[in-house]
Amino acid sequence: MECKVRSFKRNAKIVATMGPSTNNVEIIEELIKAGVNVCRINMSHGTHGEQADRMAMIRKAAKNLGREVGILLDLQGPKIRVDKLPEPLDLKDGSEWVIGETKYQAELPQYKDCYIPTIYDKLVDDCRVGERVLFDDGNYSAEIIDKEEHIVKIRIEAGGLLKSNKGINLPDTNVSVPSFTAKDREDLAFGLTQEIDFIALSFVRRAQDIIDVKEMLKEAGKDYPIISKIEKPQALENIEEILEVTDALMIARGDMAVEVGNHLVPRIQKDLIKRCNELGKPVITATQMLESMIDCPSPTRAEASDVANAIWDGTDAVMLSGETAAGKYPIKTVEMMDKIVEEAEKTPHKLPLLRNVEIDTITGSMMVASSMVAEKIGAKRVLVVTETGYSTLEMMRFKPTVPVLGVTRSVDAMRRMCMYWGIRPFHIPYREDDANIERKVIELAIDECQLEAGDRIVVARGDGRFFKSGSANNIRVEIID
Ligand code: PGA
Ligand code: MN
Repeated sequence: MECKVRSFKRNAKIVATMGPSTNNVEIIEELIKAGVNVCRINMSHGTHGEQADRMAMIRKAAKNLGREVGILLDLQGPKIRVDKLPEPLDLKDGSEWVIGETKYQAELPQYKDCYIPTIYDKLVDDCRVGERVLFDDGNYSAEIIDKEEHIVKIRIEAGGLLKSNKGINLPDTNVSVPSFTAKDREDLAFGLTQEIDFIALSFVRRAQDIIDVKEMLKEAGKDYPIISKIEKPQALENIEEILEVTDALMIARGDMAVEVGNHLVPRIQKDLIKRCNELGKPVITATQMLESMIDCPSPTRAEASDVANAIWDGTDAVMLSGETAAGKYPIKTVEMMDKIVEEAEKTPHKLPLLRNVEIDTITGSMMVASSMVAEKIGAKRVLVVTETGYSTLEMMRFKPTVPVLGVTRSVDAMRRMCMYWGIRPFHIPYREDDANIERKVIELAIDECQLEAGDRIVVARGDGRFFKSGSANNIRVEIID
């Protein structure tokens, strides 16, 4: 019997985005060794072939190390971009430009020197005069001053050099395309042919956006947790209904800051984390966490504080984007994040201890009870036996102070648990004829966690028919002899 577990010192998890800087098995191995728990595949970039290769490399690296990581397929959503430009456009303050579909550019020679092409085809229908247009992560801003049949006219307020493919944000506009776009459907269909574990949807605005994804999954006979990326003002307005249907949340601070303004991001971050903690839904804090490490071997003081503060806010995971995907120091960045998180967690009184969460399920109550028992008797570990990982998700809600092993025979469950705060996935291949499997699990845990005579562990079964002999929920204390 083999088992795979890593005794992480930290509880919060690290998500790292894959990209050109992480394009071989050796580097991915180093990333996993440095502490990456979940790899993010960003479908905004690259071909399906490239992404398939990348996912194969991740699985290979994890296998070589005897560890597991989750794979998160991140769908682009209705991101509007500037189309290809022969050369950058100099958007001078106060100058006037038009934005239109690339296909009309040739038909409108009167605007040939001031045309910003995009492939988004609902711009003229959706926008109104007076609304703002932001380019390049909000670096440049403009106001819509007029509309014609195929274009909107804008006046630049704060300009600069605009390059191909830069993002366009319309914070005031009710963008009519669904968040789950045609490209996303193709990307998801591709993702379903791969070994993925989570799906993220960008620019979610309403519960229906998530339901759309769930419907496509249902038709395909699949069931993956869906992470709603919160980055639009409309999502904040509809946050209650979104939280009802989503499985997890990402605080996508990059586009969020562009859409709502930087000054509101810290408050929104704290608010969203609190809501997710109360509901027991995993939450990821994302974007620019160690941004300066894209080019430098160490972060700024502010960035180190940002990571620690997200932990103290109660985030379940912290995410790296460009730092690992396209940065010069992907491994150093993960090591730095790992260290900051570990240090932050050494002051547990700063963490929100969720001792008053509303628990209304049997599994949830079992999990709370077992972590209470473990705390009271000073147990070294809690072993949660789980079929799907659901019990450990319920356990996570309680932010247990005793390290938890999520014991499962399911590879899928193990990979999902890679995202759960405080849960160390622990895999055991299951065989029907293993009469004494429970003893074996305990022995493996003793070995893996270097437990000694007299140490106590709590064994909890929440959702399992896993051990056939004891299908009832139960909690047991084991004293190692
Ligand atoms: P992105 O999402 O990296 O896909 O844009 C995260 C964010 O906007 O913060
Ligand atoms: Mn985004």
